[in-house]
Amino acid sequence: MADTPLTVVGAGVAGLAVAARLAPRFPGLVVLERRDRHGTEASSRNSEVVHAGLYYPAGSLKAVHCVRGKQLLYETCERLGIPHRRTGKIVVATEEGEEPELDALLERGRGNGVELERLTAAQCRRLEPNVRAVAGLLSSSTGIVSAHGLMDALLQEARGAGALLQTRAELVGLDRRDRGYRLTVRTPGGTEAITSERVVNAAGLESDRVAALAGIDPDASGYRLHWWKGSYFAVASAKARLLSRLVYPVPTPVHLGIHAVLGLDGRLRFGPDAHHVPERRLDFTVDDGRRAAFGADVRRLVPDIADDDLTPDLAGIRARLQAPGEGFRDFVVAEESGRGLPGLVNMVGIDSPGLTSSLSLAEAVDRLLPA
Ligand SMILES: Cc1cc2nc3c(=O)[nH]c(=O)nc-3n(C[C@H](O)[C@H](O)[C@H](O)COP(=O)(O)OP(=O)(O)OC[C@H]3O[C@@H](n4cnc5c(N)ncnc54)[C@H](O)[C@@H]3O)c2cc1C
Repeated sequence: MADTPLTVVGAGVAGLAVAARLAPRFPGLVVLERRDRHGTEASSRNSEVVHAGLYYPAGSLKAVHCVRGKQLLYETCERLGIPHRRTGKIVVATEEGEEPELDALLERGRGNGVELERLTAAQCRRLEPNVRAVAGLLSSSTGIVSAHGLMDALLQEARGAGALLQTRAELVGLDRRDRGYRLTVRTPGGTEAITSERVVNAAGLESDRVAALAGIDPDASGYRLHWWKGSYFAVASAKARLLSRLVYPVPTPVHLGIHAVLGLDGRLRFGPDAHHVPERRLDFTVDDGRRAAFGADVRRLVPDIADDDLTPDLAGIRARLQAPGEGFRDFVVAEESGRGLPGLVNMVGIDSPGLTSSLSLAEAVDRLLPA
């Protein structure tokens, strides 16, 4: 008999959502986390936006899980008292040439089942007088959530159902056995081995490497990750009150664009930008040298914010399947029986909207692991 029926690798929002959902069905579920505590990587270094689901191609996992995840997230926030707010958001065209892209976004969003309203320049001004816009889209179901509040609540639910979180426990080996898997885990006390009937790989930035531990070639499988760093600058003055909702530019194929993020504490930040990190170095410092370039992007949206109003804030790193120059790549959520690895589920490329989608992704993992 294996030590545990199910091991989840990684205690970010994806792993914790899976643990909370599956703990009742898999008594003694174990979550392995290499850091001192849960949720210190992508899941706590993001915009904390509950995305509506307007950006993603129809039928993609990102579209489906974002829309379903948003609904589950708001329900869970209400049920468990997790701090959140339905702020709404506007996407603005700052010049006329961007209007066709705004209309394409409107069509795509409505196709995904998202409630959207087309706004004239005057309507944008009425909602957000300090924003430069020739036209806009209002998404009233977009909001913000405390990522830590969500993860703490998910961990509590998982623990309440008997799950165990083992921190400072890094998975370094994953071998198929007759029934299940043998996991080699590096801990401060040395290396340990545990056996598990099933394994969910929710290792974020390292999920391609964890899949490789099980013998999956990251290139042949299409699981190779590319790290993209995103930095934020905070508005450190009274100008933090210039906006009352989230404000985004028309997106580019590479990212959603530097946008205005409101914190639940009333703080206003702008970000994230997107820089490829080819050497895959985990460096969360924000380079103050980017301030002028950042300021220029910010003023395209809010002309009254000067470079001096901006101070370096946090940075996060996206775990993307998309290489530089590549087009859209979807989430991977795959049970690997087809590769001779039954009971192994890989969650790879869980970049944005992964926070919003987490509870829906957990439902998908649940369906992939029948009793
Ligand atoms: C800058 C930025 C902005 C974003 N904005 C938004 C947003 O506004 N809305 C939204 O919906 N999404 C957003 N996202 C995406 C969202 O943050 C991610 O999709 C989500 O947090 C991914 O969660 P995760 O659990 O997969 O990864 P992580 O939170 O990175 O968790 C993975 C965990 O696995 C652990 N781990 C790795 N390897 C091992 C190992 N070998 N053994 C044990 N543990 C291991 C890590 O230490 C880590 O704790 C943003 C992301 C970034 C970076």
